Amino acid sequence: MHPWNQPILDSFEARIARLPHALLVHGPRGVGKLALAERIAQRLLCEAAEAARRPCGTCNACRWFLAGNHPDFRRLEPEILWKDEVPDKPSRIIKIDQVRELADFTYVTTHRGGLRIVLLHPADEMQVPAANSLLKSLEEPPAGVIFLLVSHHPDRLLATIRSRCVALAVPVPPRKSALSWLAGQGVKDAERWLAYAGGAPLRALEYAADAQILAGILASPAPVEDRDKLEQLAEALQKTALDKAFSAFGLPSRYQTGGKAGTAQNAHAWLSYARAMGRSRRLTQHPLNARLFSAEILAARPKT
Ligand SMILES: [Zn+2]
Repeated sequence: MHPWNQPILDSFEARIARLPHALLVHGPRGVGKLALAERIAQRLLCEAAEAARRPCGTCNACRWFLAGNHPDFRRLEPEILWKDEVPDKPSRIIKIDQVRELADFTYVTTHRGGLRIVLLHPADEMQVPAANSLLKSLEEPPAGVIFLLVSHHPDRLLATIRSRCVALAVPVPPRKSALSWLAGQGVKDAERWLAYAGGAPLRALEYAADAQILAGILASPAPVEDRDKLEQLAEALQKTALDKAFSAFGLPSRYQTGGKAGTAQNAHAWLSYARAMGRSRRLTQHPLNARLFSAEILAARPKT
């Protein structure tokens, strides 16, 4: 778990006597929600005698959990995020079969005499049938089962699922803690990439790893041949457009995309282009001709 989320874990600890059946860990991408949810799961499964020491990291339960084979823990993720045995054409969503298989887990008794935990990540990557199947479990929660849902798009969850969960918000951390953590990771230009990541440290780390490519795209955006680059291009255009809009409003740059302050004029055109680029980023998940698509979004940029 990342150091900036310790206060959130502490606040969870303070309320642990009234444990909900389902917790929705939500917040922007790249703030460490998954690691926090994993720590909460480990905390709940830890068998250390003294509560203050949980998770201890050394008991059998902790060791099984950390090795990924605790018998009372289930992790539901799209195939594309699986660590081993990834199928040939991995699915990007949590399938209904995965949710159905949960029944076997939640309705048998616990192996260790404690709680059983189900972690769903990302919980919004579920189609309606899978979500409905999950909803049934949430409506009549089996005793001793805790659901941990992790999501950066809680708005895409069924409202009926959201309403069954207690929300645990994970915000963007204070800039100072983010920068000191990034420095500890050996990141160069940490301020720039943290700004580009909208303050999310784990995103900043990813961007810094691609620094040369991203700096190139930002300096001179051009059509791309392959689909993996397309998302990077659409994101760069989106963030540049937002910075242009801020600039036209006389506000400072937010994403440090490199434009000069006060140079852009047509705030509304830039804003609506930024929204279009948000939609384009989602479209890049689908098979399409990268060259045509990138040429098209580049041509649509406002001129001033
Ligand atoms: Zn332990």
